[in-house]
Amino acid sequence: MAEFSLALNEDQLQIQKWIHDFAENVVRPAAHEWDEREEFPFPIVEEAAKIGLYSFDFFAQASMGDPTGLTMPVALEELFWGDAGIGLAIFGSGLAAAGIAANGTPEQVMEWVPQCFGEPDDLKIGAFCVSEPDAGSDVSSLKTKAVYHEATDEWVLNGTKAWATNGGLAHLHVVTATVDPTLGSRGQATFLVPEGTPGISQGQKYKKHGIRASHTAEVVLDDCRIPGRMLLGGKEKLDEKLARARGGTKTGAKQPAMATFEATRPAVAAQAIGVARAAYEEALAYAKERVAFGKPIIMNQAIAFLLADMATEIDAARMLVWRAAWLAGNGGYTNAEGSMAKLKAGRVAVWVTERAIQIHGGYGYTREYPVERMHRDAKIFDIFEGTEQIQQLVISRAISGLRIE
Ligand SMILES: Cc1cc2nc3c(=O)[nH]c(=O)nc-3n(C[C@H](O)[C@H](O)[C@H](O)COP(=O)(O)OP(=O)(O)OC[C@H]3O[C@@H](n4cnc5c(N)ncnc54)[C@H](O)[C@@H]3O)c2cc1C
Repeated sequence: MAEFSLALNEDQLQIQKWIHDFAENVVRPAAHEWDEREEFPFPIVEEAAKIGLYSFDFFAQASMGDPTGLTMPVALEELFWGDAGIGLAIFGSGLAAAGIAANGTPEQVMEWVPQCFGEPDDLKIGAFCVSEPDAGSDVSSLKTKAVYHEATDEWVLNGTKAWATNGGLAHLHVVTATVDPTLGSRGQATFLVPEGTPGISQGQKYKKHGIRASHTAEVVLDDCRIPGRMLLGGKEKLDEKLARARGGTKTGAKQPAMATFEATRPAVAAQAIGVARAAYEEALAYAKERVAFGKPIIMNQAIAFLLADMATEIDAARMLVWRAAWLAGNGGYTNAEGSMAKLKAGRVAVWVTERAIQIHGGYGYTREYPVERMHRDAKIFDIFEGTEQIQQLVISRAISGLRIE
């Protein structure tokens, strides 16, 4: 077990600087353009691949190979400080990779996680598809069905996935489906659908409020046939789990989608902190420059104290995130700390970016200043990977020991 410390080690400090430089020099200057284009920023992701940031090696080093748990949140805060839309375009494949890491056998992890990233000259993209048009927060009621055909050792997937980051663009779709709908989440399993598989296609591409450089779309599965070995975790383990669930015994194992979301919560919360910090820094600089009534607006306590509160909230949220990240890799959460971090960081990002617009006055309400985009981007952190209310639900159940509805 790693010792909990807020001091970053040499490697982490280097990674922080490396990604900050990339965010400052490559991501930030491209942010406005790709937000306006509302397209996946392939050239920027290629740049990230060239420096090794978009790669299996970096994913492995920052997640699986870091006993302190802090490397991933540190990295993501810097990347999303650059821009959240492009940040998610770069990190989106990491969600698919996390889905495989949380549910796959060690052999599947080694074979398929690298295929979420590819190589700089042969980029690959991954998508993690859980949500459906009628099942977002309520993951237990997924309708996408997976049926096993023993004669051919194949799974056949049918259904529509909603809101998939990189959905339809991806070379590898990681799809959670129900094998036995009567068992709710306990009847679900997660599958790999590699590129070239007939029966998988992109549905509608969503036009979004923020993070517009990140591609979000429906994924349609129409008699999509995949070999038996594409079931993450393997058939034997699934059969045992289903038998225990049918017998009414608790399996003890985390359900497929939840296992991934729990693991990625501190990472997503760290992204929110990156956006909040970026907006706060913009607001601080603007408040020192902007003169009203003959003095910089920061000389008014109303503005200076607001900036003081923004800085304090960001630091408080970061500490929750780092605590959760450390616990996730060192024995697990004891009191819904991952949800606490995600809840706080999302709220802080929304509040700080909104106040940053206020400090910019009318200019902040225009696309000429980045705080407008940052505020639109920030709202997603209250919604995906568990909404604000779902985090409250998880926390309230943990602190009360009751099945709060
Ligand atoms: C840009 C974007 C990217 C996304 N990327 C992905 C992805 O890559 N993969 C993926 O699988 N999904 C993805 N999602 C889906 C996302 O996780 C869901 O949108 C989210 O979980 C909420 O589900 P929903 O939209 O169906 O809302 P609903 O579940 O319908 O919730 C609607 C409202 O009701 C509230 N609510 C629901 N249940 C309760 C309850 N029990 N108690 C109190 N309040 C409740 C919610 O908090 C929310 O305010 C993405 C979404 C967006 C917008």
